[in-house]
Amino acid sequence: MRVTLRNEFHRTRAEVVVPTLPHTLSASQYRRALRALCPCRAGVCQCGGLRGPQSVGVELTADANGRPTWRLSAREELAP
Ligand SMILES: [Zn+2]
Repeated sequence: MRVTLRNEFHRTRAEVVVPTLPHTLSASQYRRALRALCPCRAGVCQCGGLRGPQSVGVELTADANGRPTWRLSAREELAP
């Protein structure tokens, strides 16, 4: 399935393809999405990478190597 991530600060979006939700992005998926969302050359600016409402739940986490990535989850999972 395709998931669109949004950044209203830069008015950008990134599309990632995931097998199912929840899904933790691979390091390369995360890097590619972040580059599309925040075009700032010096890494991520104050936008934080994501801004505004998202179509899925997004949680900042770490991959097996301790590098940051996003864990995407279906919206319903966020309900308490
Ligand atoms: Zn930015």
